[in-house]
Amino acid sequence: YYSEKTVVFYDGKFVKAKQVSCSPFAQTMHYGYGIFEGLRSYQTSNGVSIFNAKAHFERMKYAAHKLSIPLLYSVQDLENIAYDLLDQNNFKDAYIRPLLFCPDNMRLSSRRESILFMGAWKWPRYHGNNLLSACISSIERPNPKSCPVDAKISGLYVSSIMATNEAHLKGYDEAIMLDQFGNVAQASGANVFYEKEGELFTPPKGHILAGITRKVIMDLAREKEIKVTEKPISPKELQQADMVMLTGTAVEVALVGAIDGISFKKNPKHTKCAELAEAYSDLVHSAYEPAYTII
Ligand code: PMP
Repeated sequence: YYSEKTVVFYDGKFVKAKQVSCSPFAQTMHYGYGIFEGLRSYQTSNGVSIFNAKAHFERMKYAAHKLSIPLLYSVQDLENIAYDLLDQNNFKDAYIRPLLFCPDNMRLSSRRESILFMGAWKWPRYHGNNLLSACISSIERPNPKSCPVDAKISGLYVSSIMATNEAHLKGYDEAIMLDQFGNVAQASGANVFYEKEGELFTPPKGHILAGITRKVIMDLAREKEIKVTEKPISPKELQQADMVMLTGTAVEVALVGAIDGISFKKNPKHTKCAELAEAYSDLVHSAYEPAYTII
């Protein structure tokens, strides 16, 4: 993720990544009580553009607020830091990772202190362009009553990593996690849609992190007059789909060709999911200013 030359933003200034050292007594390190974001920048005809930067930093503010972690930067400050970071590393297409973490504190209560880290690295599409295999995971999405699952909270990712580990052990690429009621929630770090007879279906808000990519895909679908319905989805429905796709900043739009070892019959190239994957790629590489109201 970094080399000798990599510059990161850490505790108020730009420094070399190799100079940063983090205390092993940091509260976030022990208890996962921290928040983060994930953004992508793209080279466009109008220069380097961070896709939907404001929406991501607004979500970061929301997560900080939910955990009462002070975020001493405005959305505009955060956006400026992100662009400076890209500039200092001479990055064009990159993944940007802000992390707001709590420093030394071994108690199970918050102190009103935080440190902002922001790093960036070149990260090709998380799953490449492969047609993925996924399984229904035995690891459930966390209960929204125990933690705000609509915020990107570090500790929430324990279950995502466990679900992915389980999927990999069984030979699958990805895990589809269910909610506490046995309905499909989402993938480990991405939202899920399925396609049936030309229409799209996706789980409603509640147990998911309703991603920015999810919203963009829904808007793109509507522009193309593809019907999208948010509704509770059973694992069986997913298995009987024509195609499944995952959406997220890191994965972008990834097509899933089989669930639990059962392949979909439809040619992936002839699906709405493939059409939307292409439209998403065109959009992020265009000099577009988001007209979308996010989340
Ligand atoms: N769910 C989880 C758990 C995620 O980590 C992500 C990635 N941020 C997503 C969904 C997709 O969100 P977005 O489209 O905003 O990147």
